Amino acid sequence: MTWETVIGLEVHAELSTKSKIFCGCSGEFGGEPNSRVCPVCAGFPGALPKLNRAVVEYAARVGLALGCTVAPRCKFDRKNYFYPDLPKAYQVSQLYLPICQGGRLEIEADGQKKSIGIREIHMEEDAGKLVHDADGTFMDFNRCGVPLIEIVTLPDFRSGGEVMAFLERLREILLYLGVCDCKMQEGSLRVDVNLSVCRPGEGLGVRTEMKNLNSFKAAGRAVEYERRRQIELLESGGAVVQETRRWDDDAGESFGMRSKENAQDYRYFPEPDLLPVELDEARLAGIRQSLPELAHQKRARYRRDYALSEAEAAVLTGHKRISDLFESVARLSGEPAEAARLITGEIMRLMNLTDTQPENLSVDAGKLSALVAFVSSGKINRGAYKETAEAVFLRGVDPETYIAEKGLLMLTDGGAVAEAVKAAVEDNPDAARDYLAGKDKAFGFLVGQAMKKLGGNGSPDMVREHLRKCLTNTPNR
Ligand code: ADP
Ligand code: MG
Ligand code: ZN
Repeated sequence: MTWETVIGLEVHAELSTKSKIFCGCSGEFGGEPNSRVCPVCAGFPGALPKLNRAVVEYAARVGLALGCTVAPRCKFDRKNYFYPDLPKAYQVSQLYLPICQGGRLEIEADGQKKSIGIREIHMEEDAGKLVHDADGTFMDFNRCGVPLIEIVTLPDFRSGGEVMAFLERLREILLYLGVCDCKMQEGSLRVDVNLSVCRPGEGLGVRTEMKNLNSFKAAGRAVEYERRRQIELLESGGAVVQETRRWDDDAGESFGMRSKENAQDYRYFPEPDLLPVELDEARLAGIRQSLPELAHQKRARYRRDYALSEAEAAVLTGHKRISDLFESVARLSGEPAEAARLITGEIMRLMNLTDTQPENLSVDAGKLSALVAFVSSGKINRGAYKETAEAVFLRGVDPETYIAEKGLLMLTDGGAVAEAVKAAVEDNPDAARDYLAGKDKAFGFLVGQAMKKLGGNGSPDMVREHLRKCLTNTPNR
């Protein structure tokens, strides 16, 4: 008998608003410990919160992008628990009336399209951080009150592949919306995986919740590990306990942390210090209008307007920085096809080579478009193009100056090409004979030899043409 795996995700995304959710402190990552705190976020008695308007807008943007219904009126609730990183001993969150409900996200995994349901998105504040070292444990409250949204899906996933595909798509959307920088290493995007197994057709099984997944790949591995663990447990007559487990990616295992709390354990109650949040139709319409074009919409447009392939469009829209660069180069050069080839080819190769993340990409669009003009007008050949692309990418050189200084302009002087071809044939009589005897490889060799004589700057088309002529005139000895 087979088992079915059922997975639901809870994704926490830190919003990149300038200030925190209920005070004016900076919500930026890092900083000298406890340098970004005030009585409100440090939880001093009597300090009163004031809701950051941008947080509501950011949350609504995500909701609209995910096809959710945005509530015209929502409220905050207190989730009470004691932990040293939570100075107020409660977290302001939304339980009863979250800002967004009922959306969807289309994914493609294992060659299949699938729609994942979004149950809700709510706004809440982040907790501080505990720093453990040899001298003990220290508290850093800089993160207290950093705005978060929690995106909760329906238990619609059936495999780790679907989970990873969803997270990729979600990250893409959050980045495009500019609401979160999605750095898992810095904790600005955090994923909890809820997983259970059951026999097909029977009700849902008991689930565990896994935390501490520091990459999408780790989430995929954790799913695989946990489903096996639960199946083995059930098949050997045991039972799954509802608990929170910590994933250890190095060990490739998860460990039980604590039994899972229920909502009643938190003694939730309506937050008395904040008014309900009202989002009227006009404000919502304004937010809807300000939504940028999303990646999947961009892909469709690139295919339609620039006649790019699906693969090219996918690479170019993989990150906003890449698509912005492509659009600038396409616009400046007026050669979208060549611009797409440059960025999906040489630029991606150089980014990989230098381990450059898209968010750190700083190559100049004007310089790239100048390079595109050189290739598309046939003024430089492949080799010179690659070399110049590298110099622009690594050292920010000006292509025009570089090409002139290095003498990379393609030689289109017929006389020089004819001479080089003639010399190449004379120097290599064996190759010429092989070619005439039907060995096509010898032709390529001779092209290479002639190119060498031209310092690598010959026009390959011209060289081939001259070589063909030259060889037919060579007597077959
Ligand atoms: P809690 O509030 O206790 O964390 P929720 O009802 O909010 O629980 O669900 C949290 C996540 O767990 C959601 O993504 C949901 O889809 C998922 N989930 C709920 N029940 C199951 C189950 N039996 N198996 C797998 N995932 C589940
Ligand atoms: Mg929950
Ligand atoms: Zn503060």
